[in-house]
Amino acid sequence: MGLKVAKFGGSSLSDADQFRKVKDILLSDPDRRFVVPSAPGRRFKEDDKVTDLLYRCFKLAQTGQSYSECFSRIVTRYCDIIRDLGIDLDLLPALHEAEKEIARSDNPDYAASRGEYFNGLILASYLGWDFIDAAEVVRFDRQGAFAPEWTNEVLSERLSRHEHAVIPGFYGAMPSGEIKTFSRGGSDITGAIVSRAAKASLYENWTDVSGFMMADPRIIDNPRSIDKLTYRELRELSYMGATVLHEDAIFPVRKAGIPTNIRNTNDPSHPGTMIVLTPDDIENERTITGIAGHKNFTLLSIDKAMMNSELGFGRRVLGVLEGLDISFEHLPTGIDTMSVVIADSEIESHKSEIIERIEEACHPDSIEFTSGVALIATVGRGMVNKRGTASRLFRALAVADINIRMIDQGSSELNIIVGVDGKDFERAVSAIYYEFV
Ligand code: ASP
Repeated sequence: MGLKVAKFGGSSLSDADQFRKVKDILLSDPDRRFVVPSAPGRRFKEDDKVTDLLYRCFKLAQTGQSYSECFSRIVTRYCDIIRDLGIDLDLLPALHEAEKEIARSDNPDYAASRGEYFNGLILASYLGWDFIDAAEVVRFDRQGAFAPEWTNEVLSERLSRHEHAVIPGFYGAMPSGEIKTFSRGGSDITGAIVSRAAKASLYENWTDVSGFMMADPRIIDNPRSIDKLTYRELRELSYMGATVLHEDAIFPVRKAGIPTNIRNTNDPSHPGTMIVLTPDDIENERTITGIAGHKNFTLLSIDKAMMNSELGFGRRVLGVLEGLDISFEHLPTGIDTMSVVIADSEIESHKSEIIERIEEACHPDSIEFTSGVALIATVGRGMVNKRGTASRLFRALAVADINIRMIDQGSSELNIIVGVDGKDFERAVSAIYYEFV
């Protein structure tokens, strides 16, 4: 295989023992040449992530309160790691400089980025690899939007000069030099960006689980893990709530044709989940790949006789929502009915305004809101060629005595979405899982 980029999450670098595991993993495969670390995560359940502590320091500084105690906890975390690893590195002057800068700067991103920055310095020293400050190679434009092509150019050139390097995750810089971070969990994005720039053959994302599960383990006992899936399936599952990888981490690698492998730092012999470009890369075909879902949706149902022949009806309904800055999730329609599925958080205080505006724009026979709806997406590229998948799914729900409020299936046949009562959510996920697995 060719060059690999390995990204390690916060729990994989939370203390010296975890650093040792990371070093073993990296040195066991000479193709692993570039590594992207997160900031130290939690060592135990009640522990704090260093990134959270840094945000807290910034907040305290902004409100004129003392943050020295909070910052000293960060210093202790790093000093403990350095001491336990026995490396010769004095980070104290740089840490104290950062402490002062947090108070001087009104940019929370600077504070937050120091978690990855210092962890990267420690990892580089421990491995004996070069350190590349992400502020020099991950570019954001003047408005603070990530600049993918610019970054790719600068980063590719820079990486070509290093045999091995550590590039801290989560942040980059704007043309003014000001630090800018991605959203939380953004080291995954840096890993994907570095993979693209290095023309890697594989992006390894090391975390504390052995990949994706077919369903939420809080609902299904010991669900089967997914060994391989396509980026499109992953996108559908993450959109509906399956979280392991940052959503925006998919795009750079997918575009560059690089597969991603989710692996477990605490169980490195487990192959994890491989995310591939096309279904041709997957040998054994299962009908469904995974199930994900969310509660707290509202169904807005609009009835009007002869709606099907009224030009512009749908546009006017969606125009009302757009005018109120409300985004919608799905749009299942009948001949004389149009339903719009909207997250509760979007709709909250707007209900009466929506009714008023739709009445004015569309003169419907009735408008109704049904809240407390849960959406469940059953995702699988294997559904395309198999007859009877939808009927098995609906029968499983019927047998479990669950009423389906809404059905939506895209023509790609990658995904069947059903809406059920929130109280039936867990039972519905179980019914579908055990029907197919
Ligand atoms: N340290 C950052 C966070 O906690 C980024 C990351 O870990 O990916 O969100």
